[in-house]
Amino acid sequence: MTLRLHNTLTGNKEEFVPLEKDQVRMYTCGPTVWNYAHVGNLRAFLFYDLVRRHLQVSGYSVTHVMNLTDIDDRILDQAMHAGMTIDEYVKPYVEAFFEDMATLRAQRVEAYPRATEHIPEMVDMISTLIENGNAYIADGDVYFRITSFPKYGELSHLDRAGLKAGARVATDKYEKESVSDFALWKRSQPGDEGLGASWDAPFGKGRPGWHIECSAMSKRYLGETLDIHAGGVDLMFPHHENEIAQSEAANHKQFARVWLHSEHLADATGEKMSKSAGGFTTLRDLVAAGHDPLAIRLFLIANAHYRSRVRLSPEALHAAAEQVRRLREFADRVDRTAPAREEHAALAERTAEVRVSYRDALDDDLNLPFGLGLVFDHVREANAALDAERVGPLNKASLRALLGDVDAHLDVINAEEPGLAEEVERLIAERESARKARDFARADRIREDLKARGIALEDSKDGVRWRRISA
Ligand SMILES: [Zn+2]
Repeated sequence: MTLRLHNTLTGNKEEFVPLEKDQVRMYTCGPTVWNYAHVGNLRAFLFYDLVRRHLQVSGYSVTHVMNLTDIDDRILDQAMHAGMTIDEYVKPYVEAFFEDMATLRAQRVEAYPRATEHIPEMVDMISTLIENGNAYIADGDVYFRITSFPKYGELSHLDRAGLKAGARVATDKYEKESVSDFALWKRSQPGDEGLGASWDAPFGKGRPGWHIECSAMSKRYLGETLDIHAGGVDLMFPHHENEIAQSEAANHKQFARVWLHSEHLADATGEKMSKSAGGFTTLRDLVAAGHDPLAIRLFLIANAHYRSRVRLSPEALHAAAEQVRRLREFADRVDRTAPAREEHAALAERTAEVRVSYRDALDDDLNLPFGLGLVFDHVREANAALDAERVGPLNKASLRALLGDVDAHLDVINAEEPGLAEEVERLIAERESARKARDFARADRIREDLKARGIALEDSKDGVRWRRISA
Protein backbone atom coordinates (compact mmCIF):
# COMPACT_ATOMS: atom_id res chain seq x y z
CA MET A 1 0.00 0.00 0.00
CA THR A 2 1.16 3.54 -0.59
CA LEU A 3 0.72 6.32 1.92
CA ARG A 4 -2.74 7.86 1.90
CA LEU A 5 -3.60 10.97 3.91
CA HIS A 6 -6.90 12.69 4.59
CA ASN A 7 -6.61 16.10 2.96
CA THR A 8 -8.92 18.67 4.60
CA LEU A 9 -8.79 20.73 1.43
CA THR A 10 -10.54 18.08 -0.68
CA GLY A 11 -12.23 16.15 2.13
CA ASN A 12 -10.75 12.93 0.73
CA LYS A 13 -8.14 10.38 1.59
CA GLU A 14 -5.56 10.75 -1.16
CA GLU A 15 -2.35 9.11 -2.19
CA PHE A 16 0.48 11.28 -0.92
CA VAL A 17 2.79 12.56 -3.65
CA PRO A 18 5.31 15.30 -2.78
CA LEU A 19 6.31 17.95 -5.31
CA GLU A 20 9.89 16.77 -5.35
CA LYS A 21 10.66 13.06 -5.37
CA ASP A 22 11.65 11.68 -1.94
CA GLN A 23 11.54 15.16 -0.34
CA VAL A 24 8.80 16.48 1.91
CA ARG A 25 8.40 20.11 2.92
CA MET A 26 6.19 20.28 5.97
CA TYR A 27 5.05 23.27 8.00
CA THR A 28 3.21 22.90 11.29
CA CYS A 29 1.78 25.64 13.50
CA GLY A 30 3.69 25.72 16.77
CA PRO A 31 2.98 27.10 20.22
CA THR A 32 2.10 30.61 21.26
CA VAL A 33 4.58 30.93 24.08
CA TRP A 34 2.42 32.98 26.44
CA ASN A 35 2.11 30.15 28.97
CA TYR A 36 2.90 26.44 29.37
CA ALA A 37 1.45 24.32 26.56
CA HIS A 38 -1.70 22.50 27.62
CA VAL A 39 -2.15 18.83 26.77
CA GLY A 40 -4.53 19.66 23.93
CA ASN A 41 -1.69 21.53 22.19
CA LEU A 42 0.66 18.68 23.00
CA ARG A 43 -1.65 16.27 21.20
CA ALA A 44 -1.27 18.36 18.03
CA PHE A 45 2.51 18.62 18.45
CA LEU A 46 2.85 14.85 18.90
CA PHE A 47 0.59 14.34 15.89
CA TYR A 48 3.11 16.36 13.85
CA ASP A 49 5.82 14.08 15.23
CA LEU A 50 3.87 11.01 14.12
CA VAL A 51 3.45 12.40 10.59
CA ARG A 52 7.14 13.23 10.47
CA ARG A 53 8.24 9.81 11.70
CA HIS A 54 5.98 7.95 9.30
CA LEU A 55 7.24 10.00 6.36
CA GLN A 56 10.77 9.05 7.38
CA VAL A 57 9.79 5.38 7.72
CA SER A 58 8.32 5.69 4.22
CA GLY A 59 11.72 6.74 2.88
CA TYR A 60 11.23 10.50 2.60
CA SER A 61 13.71 13.09 3.63
CA VAL A 62 11.64 15.56 5.65
CA THR A 63 12.22 19.27 6.09
CA HIS A 64 9.90 20.20 8.91
CA VAL A 65 9.41 23.74 10.17
CA MET A 66 7.45 24.67 13.28
CA ASN A 67 7.02 28.29 14.29
CA LEU A 68 7.05 29.81 17.74
CA THR A 69 4.55 32.64 18.10
CA ASP A 70 6.35 34.98 20.45
CA ILE A 71 4.17 38.01 19.80
CA ASP A 72 0.39 38.16 20.03
CA ASP A 73 -2.36 39.98 21.94
CA ARG A 74 -2.07 37.78 25.03
CA ILE A 75 1.72 38.01 25.22
CA LEU A 76 1.52 41.82 25.05
CA ASP A 77 -1.10 41.90 27.82
CA GLN A 78 0.80 39.56 30.08
CA ALA A 79 4.18 41.25 29.52
CA MET A 80 2.59 44.62 30.28
CA HIS A 81 1.14 43.29 33.56
CA ALA A 82 4.44 41.66 34.51
CA GLY A 83 6.40 44.83 33.69
CA MET A 84 8.67 42.96 31.28
CA THR A 85 9.58 43.14 27.61
CA ILE A 86 7.92 40.47 25.48
CA ASP A 87 11.32 38.78 25.08
CA GLU A 88 11.78 38.49 28.82
CA TYR A 89 8.21 37.37 29.30
CA VAL A 90 8.26 34.49 26.77
CA LYS A 91 11.74 33.16 27.63
CA PRO A 92 10.70 30.63 30.32
CA TYR A 93 7.79 29.40 28.17
CA VAL A 94 10.04 28.87 25.16
CA GLU A 95 12.36 26.81 27.35
CA ALA A 96 9.41 24.91 28.81
CA PHE A 97 8.16 24.09 25.32
CA PHE A 98 11.47 22.49 24.33
CA GLU A 99 11.62 20.64 27.64
CA ASP A 100 8.10 19.30 27.16
CA MET A 101 8.91 18.15 23.63
CA ALA A 102 12.04 16.37 24.83
CA THR A 103 10.17 14.76 27.74
CA LEU A 104 7.55 13.50 25.29
CA ARG A 105 10.27 12.29 22.91
CA ALA A 106 9.17 14.40 19.94
CA GLN A 107 11.99 14.56 17.42
CA ARG A 108 13.58 17.96 16.96
CA VAL A 109 12.49 19.51 13.69
CA GLU A 110 14.74 21.25 11.17
CA ALA A 111 13.79 24.82 12.13
CA TYR A 112 11.82 26.61 14.86
CA PRO A 113 11.58 30.17 13.53
CA ARG A 114 10.35 32.85 15.93
CA ALA A 115 7.96 35.53 14.73
CA THR A 116 9.92 38.43 16.23
CA GLU A 117 13.01 37.33 14.29
CA HIS A 118 11.22 37.47 10.92
CA ILE A 119 9.56 40.86 10.88
CA PRO A 120 11.27 41.96 7.59
CA GLU A 121 9.82 38.94 5.74
CA MET A 122 6.34 39.82 7.05
CA VAL A 123 6.71 43.49 6.12
CA ASP A 124 7.74 42.42 2.59
CA MET A 125 4.73 40.18 2.19
CA ILE A 126 2.33 42.82 3.52
CA SER A 127 3.84 45.38 1.09
CA THR A 128 3.23 42.97 -1.79
CA LEU A 129 -0.37 42.45 -0.68
CA ILE A 130 -0.95 46.21 -0.55
CA GLU A 131 0.58 46.65 -4.02
CA ASN A 132 -1.59 43.83 -5.39
CA GLY A 133 -4.74 45.40 -3.98
CA ASN A 134 -5.33 42.53 -1.55
CA ALA A 135 -4.66 44.67 1.50
CA TYR A 136 -5.38 48.23 2.60
CA ILE A 137 -4.46 50.63 5.37
CA ALA A 138 -7.15 51.83 7.77
CA ASP A 139 -6.39 54.03 10.81
CA GLY A 140 -2.72 52.92 10.71
CA ASP A 141 -3.57 49.19 10.72
CA VAL A 142 -3.28 47.04 7.59
CA TYR A 143 -6.13 44.66 6.73
CA PHE A 144 -6.48 41.83 4.23
CA ARG A 145 -9.45 42.47 1.93
CA ILE A 146 -11.15 39.09 1.77
CA THR A 147 -13.44 40.02 -1.12
CA SER A 148 -10.24 40.27 -3.22
CA PHE A 149 -9.64 36.55 -2.73
CA PRO A 150 -12.56 34.55 -4.16
CA LYS A 151 -11.26 31.24 -2.80
CA TYR A 152 -11.55 32.54 0.76
CA GLY A 153 -13.32 29.94 2.88
CA GLU A 154 -12.59 26.86 0.76
CA LEU A 155 -10.61 25.03 3.42
CA SER A 156 -13.18 25.39 6.17
CA HIS A 157 -16.17 25.27 3.78
CA LEU A 158 -17.26 28.72 4.83
CA ASP A 159 -20.60 30.04 3.66
CA ARG A 160 -19.67 33.34 2.04
CA ALA A 161 -23.28 34.51 1.81
CA GLY A 162 -23.20 36.46 5.07
CA LEU A 163 -19.88 38.08 4.31
CA LYS A 164 -19.89 41.83 4.81
CA ALA A 165 -17.47 43.63 2.51
CA GLY A 166 -15.26 46.03 4.42
CA ALA A 167 -16.15 44.83 7.93
CA ARG A 168 -12.95 44.54 9.93
CA VAL A 169 -11.73 42.46 12.83
CA ALA A 170 -8.62 43.46 14.75
CA THR A 171 -8.32 40.47 17.10
CA ASP A 172 -6.36 37.43 15.92
CA LYS A 173 -8.96 34.88 16.98
CA TYR A 174 -12.62 35.08 16.04
CA GLU A 175 -15.50 32.81 15.10
CA LYS A 176 -16.91 32.12 11.66
CA GLU A 177 -19.90 34.36 12.45
CA SER A 178 -17.62 37.38 12.49
CA VAL A 179 -15.70 36.62 9.32
CA SER A 180 -14.25 39.94 8.20
CA ASP A 181 -11.18 41.60 6.79
CA PHE A 182 -8.45 40.59 9.20
CA ALA A 183 -5.41 42.46 10.51
CA LEU A 184 -2.01 41.91 8.92
CA TRP A 185 -0.37 44.76 10.82
CA LYS A 186 -1.49 46.60 13.93
CA ARG A 187 -0.25 50.11 14.51
CA SER A 188 1.82 50.76 17.62
CA GLN A 189 -0.06 51.50 20.81
CA PRO A 190 1.42 53.59 23.63
CA GLY A 191 3.68 51.25 25.55
CA ASP A 192 4.41 48.83 22.69
CA GLU A 193 7.85 50.36 22.15
CA GLY A 194 8.80 49.73 25.80
CA LEU A 195 7.63 46.12 25.51
CA GLY A 196 9.94 45.62 22.55
CA ALA A 197 6.89 45.06 20.38
CA SER A 198 7.09 47.83 17.81
CA TRP A 199 8.79 47.78 14.43
CA ASP A 200 9.22 50.26 11.56
CA ALA A 201 7.43 49.55 8.30
CA PRO A 202 6.65 51.59 5.16
CA PHE A 203 2.98 51.56 6.22
CA GLY A 204 3.76 52.81 9.75
CA LYS A 205 5.20 51.67 13.06
CA GLY A 206 3.49 48.60 14.44
CA ARG A 207 3.55 44.86 14.94
CA PRO A 208 2.38 41.91 12.85
CA GLY A 209 -0.92 40.09 13.27
CA TRP A 210 -0.76 36.39 14.10
CA HIS A 211 -1.68 34.95 10.70
CA ILE A 212 0.96 36.65 8.56
CA GLU A 213 3.85 35.11 10.48
CA CYS A 214 3.12 31.58 9.23
CA SER A 215 2.78 32.74 5.62
CA ALA A 216 6.04 34.69 5.77
CA MET A 217 8.11 32.16 7.70
CA SER A 218 6.96 29.08 5.76
CA LYS A 219 7.96 30.87 2.54
CA ARG A 220 11.34 31.84 3.98
CA TYR A 221 12.20 28.26 5.00
CA LEU A 222 10.23 26.04 2.64
CA GLY A 223 9.35 28.07 -0.44
CA GLU A 224 5.99 29.08 -1.90
CA THR A 225 4.34 25.66 -2.01
CA LEU A 226 4.32 23.24 0.92
CA ASP A 227 3.73 19.52 0.55
CA ILE A 228 2.03 19.30 3.94
CA HIS A 229 0.64 21.89 6.30
CA ALA A 230 -0.65 20.54 9.59
CA GLY A 231 -2.32 21.98 12.66
CA GLY A 232 -4.95 21.40 15.28
CA VAL A 233 -8.52 21.51 13.99
CA ASP A 234 -9.21 24.72 15.95
CA LEU A 235 -6.69 26.50 13.67
CA MET A 236 -8.59 25.68 10.48
CA PHE A 237 -10.69 28.83 10.79
CA PRO A 238 -9.68 31.56 10.69
CA HIS A 239 -5.92 30.96 10.99
CA HIS A 240 -5.31 28.50 8.14
CA GLU A 241 -7.91 30.13 5.93
CA ASN A 242 -6.05 33.41 6.41
CA GLU A 243 -2.65 31.81 5.76
CA ILE A 244 -3.94 30.51 2.41
CA ALA A 245 -5.39 33.90 1.46
CA GLN A 246 -2.18 35.79 2.32
CA SER A 247 0.23 33.34 0.71
CA GLU A 248 -1.71 32.68 -2.49
CA ALA A 249 -2.59 36.34 -3.03
CA ALA A 250 1.08 37.29 -2.55
CA ASN A 251 2.77 34.39 -4.39
CA HIS A 252 0.17 33.37 -7.01
CA LYS A 253 0.98 29.72 -6.24
CA GLN A 254 -0.86 27.02 -4.38
CA PHE A 255 0.16 27.40 -0.72
CA ALA A 256 -0.17 23.84 0.61
CA ARG A 257 -1.05 20.69 -1.30
CA VAL A 258 -2.17 18.65 1.70
CA TRP A 259 -3.78 19.99 4.86
CA LEU A 260 -3.89 17.74 7.91
CA HIS A 261 -5.88 18.58 11.03
CA SER A 262 -5.80 16.75 14.34
CA GLU A 263 -8.87 16.69 16.55
CA HIS A 264 -9.30 18.15 20.02
CA LEU A 265 -8.39 16.52 23.21
CA ALA A 266 -11.55 16.46 25.28
CA ASP A 267 -11.84 16.73 29.03
CA ALA A 268 -13.79 14.21 31.12
CA THR A 269 -17.12 15.72 30.04
CA GLY A 270 -16.25 15.41 26.35
CA GLU A 271 -15.83 19.14 25.85
CA LYS A 272 -12.80 20.66 24.16
CA MET A 273 -10.14 21.42 26.75
CA SER A 274 -9.48 25.07 27.16
CA LYS A 275 -8.23 27.42 29.79
CA SER A 276 -11.50 29.33 29.98
CA ALA A 277 -13.38 26.11 30.74
CA GLY A 278 -10.99 25.37 33.60
CA GLY A 279 -9.62 22.30 31.84
CA PHE A 280 -6.12 23.66 31.51
CA THR A 281 -3.78 20.75 32.20
CA THR A 282 -0.08 20.90 31.41
CA LEU A 283 2.46 18.12 31.04
CA ARG A 284 3.93 19.28 34.36
CA ASP A 285 0.55 18.81 36.07
CA LEU A 286 0.26 15.25 34.73
CA VAL A 287 3.82 14.30 35.66
CA ALA A 288 3.36 15.82 39.13
CA ALA A 289 0.24 13.65 39.48
CA GLY A 290 2.48 10.61 38.94
CA HIS A 291 1.88 9.90 35.25
CA ASP A 292 4.78 8.54 33.21
CA PRO A 293 5.64 10.78 30.22
CA LEU A 294 5.97 7.69 28.01
CA ALA A 295 2.40 6.73 28.90
CA ILE A 296 1.25 10.28 28.15
CA ARG A 297 3.02 10.09 24.78
CA LEU A 298 1.45 6.74 23.91
CA PHE A 299 -1.97 7.93 25.03
CA LEU A 300 -1.80 11.11 22.94
CA ILE A 301 -0.74 9.44 19.69
CA ALA A 302 -2.23 5.96 19.91
CA ASN A 303 -5.37 6.02 22.06
CA ALA A 304 -7.50 7.30 19.18
CA HIS A 305 -7.02 8.11 15.52
CA TYR A 306 -5.80 11.67 15.04
CA ARG A 307 -9.09 12.74 13.45
CA SER A 308 -11.15 11.55 16.44
CA ARG A 309 -11.62 13.34 19.69
CA VAL A 310 -10.01 11.64 22.61
CA ARG A 311 -10.91 12.02 26.24
CA LEU A 312 -8.19 12.54 28.79
CA SER A 313 -8.72 10.69 32.07
CA PRO A 314 -6.49 9.14 34.73
CA GLU A 315 -7.89 5.72 33.74
CA ALA A 316 -6.88 6.20 30.10
CA LEU A 317 -3.38 7.25 31.18
CA HIS A 318 -3.08 4.20 33.45
CA ALA A 319 -4.15 1.97 30.56
CA ALA A 320 -1.49 3.59 28.36
CA ALA A 321 1.13 3.02 31.07
CA GLU A 322 0.13 -0.62 31.12
CA GLN A 323 0.57 -0.79 27.32
CA VAL A 324 4.04 0.74 27.59
CA ARG A 325 4.93 -1.77 30.30
CA ARG A 326 3.68 -4.72 28.25
CA LEU A 327 5.63 -3.67 25.17
CA ARG A 328 8.83 -3.10 27.12
CA GLU A 329 8.50 -6.36 29.00
CA PHE A 330 7.84 -8.24 25.81
CA ALA A 331 10.85 -6.67 24.08
CA ASP A 332 12.98 -7.56 27.07
CA ARG A 333 11.70 -11.10 27.08
CA VAL A 334 12.40 -11.59 23.38
CA ASP A 335 15.94 -10.34 23.97
CA ARG A 336 16.63 -12.54 26.98
CA THR A 337 14.97 -15.83 26.08
CA ALA A 338 17.40 -18.48 24.93
CA PRO A 339 16.31 -19.54 21.42
CA ALA A 340 14.78 -22.97 20.87
CA ARG A 341 16.54 -25.23 18.40
CA GLU A 342 13.61 -25.24 16.01
CA GLU A 343 11.76 -22.32 14.47
CA HIS A 344 8.04 -21.91 15.11
CA ALA A 345 6.77 -21.85 11.52
CA ALA A 346 3.24 -20.62 12.25
CA LEU A 347 4.59 -17.85 14.48
CA ALA A 348 7.06 -16.78 11.77
CA GLU A 349 4.26 -16.54 9.24
CA ARG A 350 2.02 -14.54 11.58
CA THR A 351 4.82 -12.14 12.56
CA ALA A 352 5.50 -11.41 8.90
CA GLU A 353 1.78 -10.82 8.29
CA VAL A 354 1.47 -8.50 11.27
CA ARG A 355 4.45 -6.45 10.09
CA VAL A 356 2.72 -5.90 6.74
CA SER A 357 -0.66 -5.13 8.35
CA TYR A 358 0.91 -2.70 10.82
CA ARG A 359 2.58 -0.83 7.98
CA ASP A 360 -0.69 -0.82 6.00
CA ALA A 361 -2.54 0.67 8.97
CA LEU A 362 -0.04 3.52 9.19
CA ASP A 363 -0.19 4.04 5.44
CA ASP A 364 -3.97 4.30 5.75
CA ASP A 365 -4.09 7.87 7.07
CA LEU A 366 -1.82 7.08 10.01
CA ASN A 367 -4.10 4.63 11.77
CA LEU A 368 -1.72 3.92 14.62
CA PRO A 369 -4.43 2.77 17.09
CA PHE A 370 -5.51 0.02 14.68
CA GLY A 371 -1.93 -1.00 13.89
CA LEU A 372 -1.01 -1.13 17.55
CA GLY A 373 -4.06 -3.27 18.30
CA LEU A 374 -2.78 -5.88 15.82
CA VAL A 375 0.62 -5.80 17.46
CA PHE A 376 -0.83 -6.36 20.94
CA ASP A 377 -2.81 -9.34 19.68
CA HIS A 378 0.39 -10.74 18.28
CA VAL A 379 2.30 -10.11 21.51
CA ARG A 380 -0.21 -12.41 23.27
CA GLU A 381 0.38 -15.11 20.66
CA ALA A 382 4.15 -14.74 20.82
CA ASN A 383 4.15 -14.79 24.62
CA ALA A 384 2.37 -18.15 24.49
CA ALA A 385 5.08 -19.45 22.15
CA LEU A 386 7.76 -18.10 24.49
CA ASP A 387 6.03 -19.82 27.45
CA ALA A 388 6.20 -23.09 25.50
CA GLU A 389 9.91 -22.43 24.71
CA ARG A 390 9.15 -22.73 21.01
CA VAL A 391 10.78 -19.60 19.65
CA GLY A 392 13.79 -20.07 17.34
CA PRO A 393 16.56 -17.60 16.47
CA LEU A 394 14.79 -16.38 13.31
CA ASN A 395 11.53 -16.06 15.25
CA LYS A 396 13.34 -13.85 17.74
CA ALA A 397 14.86 -11.74 14.97
CA SER A 398 11.51 -11.17 13.26
CA LEU A 399 9.77 -10.29 16.54
CA ARG A 400 12.55 -7.77 17.20
CA ALA A 401 12.04 -6.35 13.71
CA LEU A 402 8.29 -5.95 14.37
CA LEU A 403 9.01 -4.13 17.63
CA GLY A 404 11.49 -1.94 15.75
CA ASP A 405 8.76 -1.00 13.26
CA VAL A 406 6.39 -0.08 16.08
CA ASP A 407 8.99 1.86 18.02
CA ALA A 408 9.84 3.95 14.95
CA HIS A 409 6.49 5.63 15.69
CA LEU A 410 6.00 5.10 19.42
CA ASP A 411 9.57 5.54 20.64
CA VAL A 412 8.70 4.15 24.06
CA ILE A 413 10.20 0.65 24.00
CA ASN A 414 13.86 1.59 23.95
CA ALA A 415 13.36 4.92 25.65
CA GLU A 416 15.26 5.42 28.83
CA GLU A 417 12.95 5.14 31.81
CA PRO A 418 12.30 8.65 33.07
CA GLY A 419 14.26 9.21 36.25
CA LEU A 420 16.39 6.10 35.71
CA ALA A 421 19.73 7.92 35.78
CA GLU A 422 18.91 9.61 39.10
CA GLU A 423 17.77 6.32 40.60
CA VAL A 424 20.93 4.49 39.53
CA GLU A 425 23.11 7.26 40.94
CA ARG A 426 21.21 7.04 44.22
CA LEU A 427 21.69 3.25 44.38
CA ILE A 428 25.39 3.63 43.60
CA ALA A 429 25.72 6.05 46.52
CA GLU A 430 23.84 3.59 48.76
CA ARG A 431 26.18 0.80 47.69
CA GLU A 432 29.20 2.96 48.48
CA SER A 433 27.98 3.67 51.99
CA ALA A 434 27.21 -0.03 52.48
CA ARG A 435 30.78 -0.87 51.47
CA LYS A 436 32.23 1.77 53.77
CA ALA A 437 30.17 0.24 56.59
CA ARG A 438 31.60 -3.15 55.52
CA ASP A 439 28.06 -4.40 54.75
CA PHE A 440 29.26 -6.29 51.66
CA ALA A 441 26.15 -8.45 51.43
CA ARG A 442 24.02 -5.34 50.96
CA ALA A 443 26.48 -3.81 48.47
CA ASP A 444 26.44 -7.00 46.42
CA ARG A 445 22.68 -7.17 46.51
CA ILE A 446 22.39 -3.66 45.06
CA ARG A 447 24.79 -4.63 42.27
CA GLU A 448 22.83 -7.82 41.52
CA ASP A 449 19.47 -6.00 41.51
CA LEU A 450 20.78 -3.50 38.98
CA LYS A 451 22.24 -6.27 36.84
CA ALA A 452 18.83 -7.92 36.74
CA ARG A 453 17.51 -4.63 35.33
CA GLY A 454 20.17 -4.62 32.60
CA ILE A 455 22.56 -2.20 34.27
CA ALA A 456 26.18 -3.05 35.00
CA LEU A 457 28.36 -1.22 37.54
CA GLU A 458 32.08 -0.79 36.94
CA ASP A 459 34.43 0.22 39.70
CA SER A 460 37.16 2.49 38.41
CA LYS A 461 39.72 4.71 40.08
CA ASP A 462 37.47 7.70 39.28
CA GLY A 463 34.56 6.14 41.09
CA VAL A 464 31.71 3.91 40.02
CA ARG A 465 30.37 4.09 36.47
CA TRP A 466 27.31 2.38 35.09
CA ARG A 467 26.29 1.19 31.65
CA ARG A 468 23.47 -0.73 30.04
CA ILE A 469 24.13 -4.34 29.17
CA SER A 470 22.40 -5.84 26.18
CA ALA A 471 21.21 -9.40 26.39
ZN1 LIG B 1 0.09 28.95 11.51
